[in-house]
Amino acid sequence: MPLREESFVCMTCGTQYPPAASAPAACRTCTDERQYVPAPGQRWTTLAQIAVGHRNAFQQLEPNLFGIGTTPTFGIGQRALLVRTPHGNVLWDCITLLDEATIAIITALGGLAAIAISHPHYYSSMVAWSRAFDNAPILLHAADRDHVMRPDAAIEYWEGATREVVPGVTLTQVGGHFAGSTVLQWDAGAEGRGALLTGDTVQVVPDRQFVGFMRSYPNLIPLPPQEVARMAAVLDARRFDRIYGAWWDFHIERDAHAVVQASAARYAAWSRGMLRA
Ligand SMILES: [Zn+2]
Ligand SMILES: [Zn+2]
Repeated sequence: MPLREESFVCMTCGTQYPPAASAPAACRTCTDERQYVPAPGQRWTTLAQIAVGHRNAFQQLEPNLFGIGTTPTFGIGQRALLVRTPHGNVLWDCITLLDEATIAIITALGGLAAIAISHPHYYSSMVAWSRAFDNAPILLHAADRDHVMRPDAAIEYWEGATREVVPGVTLTQVGGHFAGSTVLQWDAGAEGRGALLTGDTVQVVPDRQFVGFMRSYPNLIPLPPQEVARMAAVLDARRFDRIYGAWWDFHIERDAHAVVQASAARYAAWSRGMLRA
């Protein structure tokens, strides 16, 4: 008799792997230099096990924008964002836990027209989410194709600099942290001034006055200053006044466009040793 297959989930990064009789030998997301295997070693779980003791919390951040995050924190700890538009709802970034309540609430809000994810650390259980919402397409930048641990027919690899998801919602490849690192521009956000949903492509930092740019956040690997300058030029061409980062409450409410440019200038100055210590 064949062994029962499970879709194993890495407990450190929350990535779900394809169904298999036994867990993978290692998590390729965590053995990459941008992540880590914790001191106790690699540990695996399943969606059913996570659902015991965890649940998802919802918060309305502004009209037609909801945060969705798992409590207590699981994996990396990001929260996803649900953007509602007249052309369908877009899930920005993803979290691992998908339970019946989450499906019922999102269905009541209109379901999902598409899932778009900033970078591989938040791919999580994207395939399970797609299947729960009529095989909603999952838009991933093609530059990060090799980091997909659970390939699926629902994944659409997009190429180039920008991609419209639905009218008023546009993805832009910014790069930096990952080659395919992306941000989402929501034109109707911030009372029509535009909101940028950034994951950790552009990391809102704890003071919420600046943003950061890193190759690895946990392992503190910086980006070359010329790469940050290039990212800032890409972001300068986008229209937004507010940024929603990857974590609960990590937002820049106003003047976020100027904050990005000031943050890139600060990064450049420190890289060249031009600031006082
Ligand atoms: Zn992992
Ligand atoms: Zn990341």
